[in-house]
Amino acid sequence: MRASQFFIATQKEAPQEAELPSHRLMLRAGLIKRLGSGLYTWMPLGLRVLRKVETVVRDEMNKAGALELLMPAVQPAELWQETGRWDVFGPQMLKITDRHERSFCFGPTHEEVITDLARREIKSYKQLPLNFYQIQTKFRDEIRPRFGVMRAREFVMKDAYSFHTSLESLEATYASMYQAYSNVFNRLGLKFRAVRADTGAIGGDGSHEFHVLADSGEDALAYCPASDYAANVELAEALPPAAPRDAAQETLREVDTPKQTACEDVAALLGISVTRTVKAIALMVAHGEGQSRFVLALLRGDHSLNEIKLAKQPGFADFRFATEEEIRAHLNCPPGFIGPVGVSAEVSVIADHTVAAMSDFVCGANKPKFHLAGVNFGRDLPEPSLVADIRNVINGDPSPDGKGVLELCRGIEVGHIFQLRTKYAEAMNATYQAENGELKIMEMGCYGIGVSRIVGAAIEQGNDARGIIFPAAMAPFSVAIAPIGMDRSDAVKDAALALYAELQQAGIDVLLDDRGERPGVMFADLELIGIPHRVVIGDRGLKEGQVEYQARTDEQAQSVALSEIVSKLK
Ligand code: ATP
Ligand code: MG
Ligand code: MG
Ligand code: MG
Repeated sequence: MRASQFFIATQKEAPQEAELPSHRLMLRAGLIKRLGSGLYTWMPLGLRVLRKVETVVRDEMNKAGALELLMPAVQPAELWQETGRWDVFGPQMLKITDRHERSFCFGPTHEEVITDLARREIKSYKQLPLNFYQIQTKFRDEIRPRFGVMRAREFVMKDAYSFHTSLESLEATYASMYQAYSNVFNRLGLKFRAVRADTGAIGGDGSHEFHVLADSGEDALAYCPASDYAANVELAEALPPAAPRDAAQETLREVDTPKQTACEDVAALLGISVTRTVKAIALMVAHGEGQSRFVLALLRGDHSLNEIKLAKQPGFADFRFATEEEIRAHLNCPPGFIGPVGVSAEVSVIADHTVAAMSDFVCGANKPKFHLAGVNFGRDLPEPSLVADIRNVINGDPSPDGKGVLELCRGIEVGHIFQLRTKYAEAMNATYQAENGELKIMEMGCYGIGVSRIVGAAIEQGNDARGIIFPAAMAPFSVAIAPIGMDRSDAVKDAALALYAELQQAGIDVLLDDRGERPGVMFADLELIGIPHRVVIGDRGLKEGQVEYQARTDEQAQSVALSEIVSKLK
């Protein structure tokens, strides 16, 4: 690409509201332009990056045997009513009405659409297993769009859905997706960690998230360096700790009738009337068919007991929540029916919206057709939006596997895989004919990658004072040729054009900066954009048959013979 015919839209300053380096740099490098809250245009330069990510994702999905299709972004309400999610999904779903007053949503995810397809098209066990995927625009009306494309409202996701005759088959595909995801993030040159992300009590190993490691990540991850245990702290906290905790540190309060509750009511219900912060885990307790109750376990952890004014609540002091058994006994609940579905959240009563998030959560969890298995926050439930830093509560705690202590780091969720089991297939009656002729419900898995979020996450990991440092696999161009005085010197012009042609021939993505900018401007742009390799061609060097080569991560340029530069760049 010749820069004079391309569109480079770099800018000196990023707007104030861009909090993270990746967001600032994406705007400054002109990869994206903001249209509105959580809405971005991918500029030609940024789109090259996005497409490179897509290419790697697509390639690994194809290699793993998944089949690409493309579903409509706009989905009829009826499908969502079948699974009960039309009401449960919450305000993240953008609902729209057509000219005939029929309801639709702009798809935040596609379980319903694909399950509808599967029940129509899959007839026999002979067709299974199948794994379909798409790379497509999703819309989620996030409560707080921020960090540019990382928490946007419109974003690009790769979502895959697999169908099976048995749990074993689902597990096999799940394992191959786990591997495919690892391959994707390795190929993209990202430092990442896969962590467990489902309820230990119910889902077993049923869900993993893939996180790009970054201090600015919204999620806290706990891992045990002495073993392979790694979990989202949401999960790590929900699991019973390996070593018995002081039961007095933890207390239970039952919320009897989950319903939409005003902030003050929730505060009253929780027995917190003061401006204090407590940690809580939401737990859902099912009592057999269709009935469930909700408890909030207030974890006192490191917080001093005096900080939480709960003592006056009748009965409160009697409940000490340390184990599932205790809750079961208290709630008269049969074994096997209890599981933490919640995340830990800092419940700060000072901030009304935090309590509101909690009340949403309580309300959402109790809707009919809600199954314990396969819960995905933000998709099945309103998102408990404030997961604050909870480092001090569990850092150094024993690992649930008993093999060491936990360490904490932060991550950006870029992928999430799930064993959904029969949650959707059952609700939508997606059956197939088994070998013995019986009609059976399909087992299902789903697998998401935040394609556009990856671009932000990669920049969060790769940047310096000069700008973006793209991993090779996603750089918009691999090599930049920066000729000095191309308009004045035929020697420079000839050498630059010849090198440009040769690199193109070699299949290398090359940008020839023929804009005629001063060297300072040119270098600053190329560094800001994060092109991994730069070749400077000037009259002085050419006289000796030399050009200057500098990798984006090098401190200094080095002279390289013009005759050797192509082989060096290959
Ligand atoms: P988060 O916890 O960050 O809100 P999620 O758990 O709601 O994500 P999933 O339903 O698991 O998201 O969707 C699959 C993937 O889509 C996520 O792992 C993430 O990479 C990406 N994703 C989700 N929400 C957004 C968003 N608002 N902007 C960009 N990417 C997103
Ligand atoms: Mg999540
Ligand atoms: Mg979400
Ligand atoms: Mg997720």
